[in-house]
Amino acid sequence: MSLTGQSRLAGVIGWPVSHSRSPRLHGFWLDELGIDGAYVPLAVPPDRLGDALKGLPALGFRGANMTVPYKTAALDACDSLDPAARAIGAVNTIVVGEDGMLAGMNTDAMGFLANLDQESGFRAAGKNAVVLGAGGAARAIAWALADAGAARVTVVNRTPERAEVLAADLGGPLTARPWTALADSLAGADLLVNATSLGMQGKPPLDVDLSPLGADAVVNDIVYTPLKTELLRQARGRGLTVVDGLGMLLHQAVPGFERWFGVTPKVTPALRSFVLEDLTA
Ligand code: NAP
Repeated sequence: MSLTGQSRLAGVIGWPVSHSRSPRLHGFWLDELGIDGAYVPLAVPPDRLGDALKGLPALGFRGANMTVPYKTAALDACDSLDPAARAIGAVNTIVVGEDGMLAGMNTDAMGFLANLDQESGFRAAGKNAVVLGAGGAARAIAWALADAGAARVTVVNRTPERAEVLAADLGGPLTARPWTALADSLAGADLLVNATSLGMQGKPPLDVDLSPLGADAVVNDIVYTPLKTELLRQARGRGLTVVDGLGMLLHQAVPGFERWFGVTPKVTPALRSFVLEDLTA
């Protein structure tokens, strides 16, 4: 659709930004929904981040996504933060208000939960979850599970101190366990999430003995390059319900699109195929 003087504008800010899948993802929805708008990649060097964010309202931007390395730096630049961004300590979505103020959100948490629900029907309330990893993604996921009422969220990480800091920061149903206690933690768990970078292209596979998990457990690997990881292959082989990492990436984009462009987009098989084409190209 061609742009007019009324076009709504948003983009993704990163350095570099060429790796971001967000322009393709939002571009699909803009075309599908026939919206007069554009979503553009914005490569902003670190010494210009403050200027770039201050410039968003002046340029008429409705907002932006923040990607590596700016998710933490954006916290201070926002005028307000939603509870997820505040607790997780990272902003991935900024919405420019009518008054020009910047509202920072973290939509990874809701994207994770929405995808898990859509793909497996899993609802966290009262459940027992194990999260592998203690980096940025694990933090968003552990917070999401706790916020959704999980009874227990066990964080297991290679560097145990990072898991302990995460559990202490977020509190509630979170506990930290060392990697050597993984088998114990998996016994009776309803959900296992891999939020480490193990299994990613170029990294070793994640090697976990899944036998302590019950037959009804769900295994979610948030790694999406490749989409079919060794962890998911093993889980499928045991007859467990599996959820891959692409859906979280797609679902986290929904709240931003909705606020910038005024329509709630859907995560459909057609969108998945369109983004997947690019990931496997
Ligand atoms: P991060 O902050 O760098 O954290 C990496 C985590 O992986 C840490 O817990 C680290 O443990 C662990 N790790 C790395 N190498 C390891 C190894 N050899 N053995 C054991 N643990 C290891 O990264 P992140 O941003 O949280 O991302 C983690 C993964 O999630 C990446 O694969 C990323 O692509 C994926 N992700 C997916 C989505 C999605 O939408 N699907 C969104 C965000 C991230 P230590 O603390 O011991 O170093």
